[in-house]
Amino acid sequence: MHNEILDIFAEHPGEYVSGESISRQLSLTRAAIWKQIQSLRKAGYEIDAQTKKGYRLVKKPLGLDEWAFQQELRTKILGRQARIYDELPSTNDQAKEEIRSGVPNGLVIMAKRQTEGRGRLQRKWESPAGGLWMSVVLQPNLSLADASKLTLGTGIAVVDALWDLYGLRVGIKWPNDLVYEGKKLAGILGEVVGEWSEIQTMVLGIGLNVNIPREQLSGGISATTIQEILGYTVNLNVLAARLLERLEQEVHSLEAKEFASLKQRWQERALGLGQEVMVIRAGQEFRGIFSGITDNGELILHKEGTELAFSAGEVQLRSHAGEYF
Ligand code: ADP
Repeated sequence: MHNEILDIFAEHPGEYVSGESISRQLSLTRAAIWKQIQSLRKAGYEIDAQTKKGYRLVKKPLGLDEWAFQQELRTKILGRQARIYDELPSTNDQAKEEIRSGVPNGLVIMAKRQTEGRGRLQRKWESPAGGLWMSVVLQPNLSLADASKLTLGTGIAVVDALWDLYGLRVGIKWPNDLVYEGKKLAGILGEVVGEWSEIQTMVLGIGLNVNIPREQLSGGISATTIQEILGYTVNLNVLAARLLERLEQEVHSLEAKEFASLKQRWQERALGLGQEVMVIRAGQEFRGIFSGITDNGELILHKEGTELAFSAGEVQLRSHAGEYF
């Protein structure tokens, strides 16, 4: 979102700008400026007003905000066009809706809350206020098989963004959940839209529990939040921007066909590698050693001298004891 008053503050970081100067630059009355300042404050901007000196931007909002997000963004394509909604049924569904009206590569849809967030296999994804509920539209220069590797790249991007910003080391639970000390912190849902041969478009959904008190998620699920882990509230605009930067690198790396490096980086961040695990497919349990993934991201299970490969769509991974991880 374009906001001319905020643009002026950005040109004078940390400084007071007089009401008169803003009024001159934007051809607005002093009363109109005051009104806009009030609405910015409501949106979470801390703005100091001094009768003699004017206005000064003290703090940008921690919650999702289009202007603050664009200020942080360092990508070329991802998120350059972004929309933030107060509430959506699902950001992935909204992204698919926007694709129908011909949407550019890199569009990002975020919602402060989702009422019908989904995980894999249509399972419910709880999405209260304070989380990062985001979908990225991509039209990558990749075959369908290679594009499906983007969900692996997205897992790496989330892990790396959390490390960059907070020094937080989370692991990837195959295929693409992010887990901290046995509790789920984020999920990723990649969906292909329409016929790949025709429009070559996919939506990558990322659901990350950020500024959410743990009690706001159901007690019955093994989940955690950044707030619970770090003990403070983080800046969602900074987090969204850093994540997209990392994701853009992953897209480039895949387009350059750096598959071996993708697999290696994914395996370095994976949980349970080399351990005995349990894979559940259609109610049937398979136990064996989780020895790695194939180039397509299938889980490889070693079992009595044989190798079994499982694809993500159909199975669940549990620890040896049957626990979440
Ligand atoms: P799985 O890890 O079992 O493969 P999915 O990736 O399909 O699951 O994610 C859906 C599941 O995640 C839900 O059934 C629920 O147990 C759990 N869940 C739902 N919302 C959240 C959330 N905000 N944080 C962590 N876990 C969640």
